[in-house]
Amino acid sequence: MSRTFNAFEMAQKQFDDVAEILNLDEATKDLLRNPIREYHFSIPVKMDDGTSKVFRGFRCQHNDARGPGKGGIRFHPQETIDTVRALSMWMTWKCAVVDIPLGGSKGGVICDPHNLSEREQEQICRGWVRQIARDIGPLQDVPAPDVMTSAQHMLWMLDEYETIHGGKYPGMITGKPVGMGGSLGRTEATGYGVIFTVREALKEMNIKPADTTAAFQGFGNVAQYAIKLYNQLGGKVISVSCWDQADNTSYTFVKTDGINVDDLLAITDRFGGINKEKAKALGYEVLAGDKWIEQEVDILVPAALENQITKDNVDKISSKVKIIAEGANGPTTPEADAVIKERGIHMIPDFLANAGGVTCSYFEQVQCNMNYFWEKDEVFGKLDVKMTSAYLDVSRLAKEKNLYMRDAAYVISINKVAQASRDRGWI
Ligand code: NAD
Repeated sequence: MSRTFNAFEMAQKQFDDVAEILNLDEATKDLLRNPIREYHFSIPVKMDDGTSKVFRGFRCQHNDARGPGKGGIRFHPQETIDTVRALSMWMTWKCAVVDIPLGGSKGGVICDPHNLSEREQEQICRGWVRQIARDIGPLQDVPAPDVMTSAQHMLWMLDEYETIHGGKYPGMITGKPVGMGGSLGRTEATGYGVIFTVREALKEMNIKPADTTAAFQGFGNVAQYAIKLYNQLGGKVISVSCWDQADNTSYTFVKTDGINVDDLLAITDRFGGINKEKAKALGYEVLAGDKWIEQEVDILVPAALENQITKDNVDKISSKVKIIAEGANGPTTPEADAVIKERGIHMIPDFLANAGGVTCSYFEQVQCNMNYFWEKDEVFGKLDVKMTSAYLDVSRLAKEKNLYMRDAAYVISINKVAQASRDRGWI
C-alpha cells in the first residue's frame, strides 16, 4: 500500500465497520483485528564487497483458523510492519471469500533488489528462511512471490527449507516455475478470475459482454490476461494505461474501435510499460495522466496499484459506468468508495475480484502435495468454478440484505473466520 497512509489502520477500520454490522463480541474483534502471530528478525548477509549488512525481515500470520497461512513475501526499501500486517489480514479475508482452506499471512524484507546482486538476493532469501523455518511449511504457512520477488526467489527459499528439514516439501511455497512444482495457468489466473466475476455480474444485469466496453488502469500481468479473456467473451476494451518511469507520469492509450491486445503486447516492456511513439503509429491516442477513469465505458478495471480512485477523481467516472472490478489491491480510497456506493455502481471488491491468483496458488499447493500436475484446462475449469461460486455467494447476500458488494464480501469472510475460530474453541 502507499507509504503516505497507514494500510493497517485502513484494514482495521474496514474490519471494525463490518464487525459492527455483525455485532461481533469483544474477544472475537480483538482476535481478528490483529495478527495472531508475527515474527521480526535480522538477516545478516555477507555482501559482494566483503562487508556485512543486516536486513530486517518480517512474517505476519494474521489468522490460521481455516487452514495454513498463505501470502506473499515482498522485497521493498520502504517495507513497514504495518503494511505487512494489513496485507496479511486481507489475505485471510481473500482466502475465506473464495472458500479455500487457508488462512492469511504476509512477509517482507526491507531491501531494494535493484541495488543487490543475484548472490546477495539469494543470501537474503536463504537467511529469511533460516530465521523462520520452524514456523512456515506446507501444513503451517505457505509463502509466495509478491512485490519484487520472483519464481527464482521462491526456489532459493524452497531449497534452504528442504536443506534444513532434510526432505522434499514442494508444497511449502508457491509461485515456483512450471516443471519445478509450479502450476500451469498461474500467469493467467488473476486476470481470468477478474473476468469470471465480471461475466457473472453482466449475466445478472442481463447484459451481453459483446455489448459492453471497458477501460483498464495498468497493462501488466493482471490487465493483460483479463483483457484477453474479456475479448474472447466479445467485450471491447477502448483504453488502457501505464506508468512511464522516464517521464515520471502515467499515460492513457485510447482506441475507440477497440485495442488489439497482441499489437500492444508487442510494444510493451516486461514491467507493463507501453512504447508511446509506437502506440501512436498504431493509431492510439496517447494522453498524459489518468484519463482511463474518465472514459465512457460500461466497466472500469483498476489493475495497477493501490490508492488510485480517490475523492479527487471519483467524480470523473462517467454516468455510463455500471461495474467497477478491482483487479488491483486497494485501488479505491474509503472516501471514493462512499461516492461509488452512493451512485449505485456495482463494485466487485479487490479481495473477491483478484482472488484468482491465490486460488491458483492453492491449486499449486494441492498438486505439489499429491505430486500430480493438472493440464491447463483443468486448472482454468476449477478456477472458474471457485470464482463463480464466490461471486454468486457475495452477490446473493448483497441482494438479500441490501448490502454494498464490498460489505457483503466482508460479512461472508469475517463470519467464516470468526466461526472457525469459535469452532476450534479459541474464543
Ligand atoms: P504489474 O507490475 O505486472 O503491472 C502493473 C501495471 O500498472 C503496469 O502496466 C504499470 O505500468 C501500471 N502502472 C503502475 N503505476 C501506474 C499508474 N500510476 N497509472 C497507470 N498505470 C500504472 O502488476 P500486476 O501483477 O498486473 O498487479 C497489478 C495489481 O494487481 C497490483 O495491485 C497487485 O498487487 C494486484 N494483484 C496482482 C496479482 C497477480 O497475480 N499478479 C494478484 C492479486 C492482486
